[in-house]
Amino acid sequence: MTAKVIDGRAISAQIRNEIKAVAEALEPTPHLHAVIVGDDPASALYVRNKERACASSGVRSTVRRLPATTSQDELLALIDDLNCSSDCDGILVQSPVPRQIDENAVILAIDPAKDVDCFHPENVGRMVAGSPRFLPCTPAGIQQLLIRSGIEIEGKHAVVVGRSNIVGKPMANMLLQKAEGANATVTVCHTRTRDMAHFTKQADILIVAAGRPRTVTGEMVKLGAVVIDVGSNLIEDASVPKGKRFVGDVAYDEVSQVAGWITPVPGGVGPMTIAMLMQNTLTAAQHNRRR
Ligand code: NAP
Repeated sequence: MTAKVIDGRAISAQIRNEIKAVAEALEPTPHLHAVIVGDDPASALYVRNKERACASSGVRSTVRRLPATTSQDELLALIDDLNCSSDCDGILVQSPVPRQIDENAVILAIDPAKDVDCFHPENVGRMVAGSPRFLPCTPAGIQQLLIRSGIEIEGKHAVVVGRSNIVGKPMANMLLQKAEGANATVTVCHTRTRDMAHFTKQADILIVAAGRPRTVTGEMVKLGAVVIDVGSNLIEDASVPKGKRFVGDVAYDEVSQVAGWITPVPGGVGPMTIAMLMQNTLTAAQHNRRR
């Protein structure tokens, strides 16, 4: 079997077009503020991609670049200003922040109504309780990939590899909700799981967010399964011009011979995460216009 490839770039473009049509009708235009502390090149790239996505979604963006020496109090003061500003609908602080800043304090400082990453405990709690204000971007993007590819989720066994706060835990939670695009039976695997292949081989839908290449190989996947590869790992590869390339957490060449559907890396989950950030910014703006 050769798996059908789920094109995250195309689905993301479709969602951004839908967002644009709604955002353009809003007055004033939805406005996302991204804060980047320090000069981590990967963070700079992520923020540039988010700026581009804003432009194609009819969302205004402002990037606040702060030096690596910024203190926690200085960052919290900026967040406070943005919380109070009527010209700001969404706030994101690009991770990682320098060591002197407590990331959790930053999450708690953001007004939950502007928390477009959906990291604030109030928003996490609302999502778990089944009445979300926002959905966390990466899991929401994966759910949209499944729904928009016509893949049924209800009644299926979904296995999530990874239990981080930004991917694994919210993903598992969203799929088990008693709601449309959910109603799955969910298993979560992590580094203490014994015989992980025993579980992954039972998955109708297998979502892998481990942060390690080849965490899932061909013999760990059921014939015809849907495989969503969240991983984004930069590896050395002398055969490509730059000497490095991104791979996922799934052994793509093997798994695509067994799976029914698969997401590529790059071009699968990554573009969807950004599209859902745009969706959350639009949702925040719609809510703020009514406040
Ligand atoms: P993380 O915080 O490092 O969490 C990784 C999780 O995977 C942990 O729960 C860990 O278990 C588990 N794990 C690691 N190795 C494992 C193994 N061999 N077997 C079973 N479980 C294993 O990572 P994350 O933030 O969730 O991100 C995961 C990957 O997705 C990374 O490659 C990241 O770059 C990528 N990512 C991509 C996007 C995107 O938009 N494309 C967004 C977010 C993340 P323990 O809890 O037991 O340690």
